[in-house]
Amino acid sequence: NAIPREARIYIAGHRGMVGGAIVRELQRQGYHNLITRTHEELDLTRQADVEAFFAAERPQYVFLAAAKVGGIHANNVYRADFISQNLMIQTNVINAAWQNDVERLLFLGSSCIYPKECPQPIKESYLLTGPLESTNQPYALAKIAGIEMCWSFNRQHGTRYLAVMPTNLYGPGDNYHPENSHVIPALIRKAHEAKLRGDASMTVWGSGRPMREFLYSEDMAAACVYLMNLPEAEYRTLLTDETPPLVNIGVGHDMTIAELAQAIARVVGFEGELVFDASKPDGTMRKLLDVGKLAAYGWKATMPFETGIAISYEDFLKRESSRPA
Ligand code: GDP
Repeated sequence: NAIPREARIYIAGHRGMVGGAIVRELQRQGYHNLITRTHEELDLTRQADVEAFFAAERPQYVFLAAAKVGGIHANNVYRADFISQNLMIQTNVINAAWQNDVERLLFLGSSCIYPKECPQPIKESYLLTGPLESTNQPYALAKIAGIEMCWSFNRQHGTRYLAVMPTNLYGPGDNYHPENSHVIPALIRKAHEAKLRGDASMTVWGSGRPMREFLYSEDMAAACVYLMNLPEAEYRTLLTDETPPLVNIGVGHDMTIAELAQAIARVVGFEGELVFDASKPDGTMRKLLDVGKLAAYGWKATMPFETGIAISYEDFLKRESSRPA
């Protein structure tokens, strides 16, 4: 493993679904010098605070999993927040990492950085080859800037920063907000509540025809730690002057939103009908990632989809029952 046992590792965004899973994966592998700060302790949009934090803590490895994220509705409506907060967070952290000689940094983005109309599956090389999907363009542009920043720092300063772009993620600790969340937690909530009320139907946004690929959060975390731990010679081959230091993370297959809704209804035990609300946006019709590059480096997702959904539903139930009335 490239990361020494005693290394000081900063996980930005450890309260989030993926950041939390990265912390657990690192602990499972025996790393114990983990550095975390809550949002209240450190506001990553404040440059001076981020610089002081890095100078004091001197992390050697950084997982940059802190970001403003949300589903199609939140991205579309809170456009200013999505572009400005993400640009500030990533600029401050990447810059401070460079100033403090961080060994490796992993920048987390999302598959929405790729053009809306892309050949499928999407290879890393399709970045910046066409217009973006409008619902999440502010978020996507911030993340594209982050990739370019990693690449530019590598080329100008000789840093070793890598960007990973996961497909749609889900898992324990997700955001189950009815409007602002992603499709899986939203449909888990909707199916559960429809079941409790005994509704004859539940509403699914859009036509049901868009296709999405779903990656379990703990698989994502395992992939992140795996890449950060690649032996130096192999890791170096990901950082070239010719192409952005970019790796897709996914499962290699997708499903329609209608199929997804059926699977969730099955796991939750909702037996009514699915009604599709065409007044809500579909977003991109398909964004299946090509995960050949990641596979070539020796990593593959393992969580079976319905098991992942069942674990997520359990997590939802636990959170619902512990919520103050
Ligand atoms: P996206 O992958 O960036 O579009 O993010 P989402 O996870 O929010 O949405 C994925 C797809 O699921 C879109 O086509 C949505 O219209 C569809 N969808 C269906 N029902 C819902 C819902 O209740 N919430 C969300 N967020 N999306 C839904």
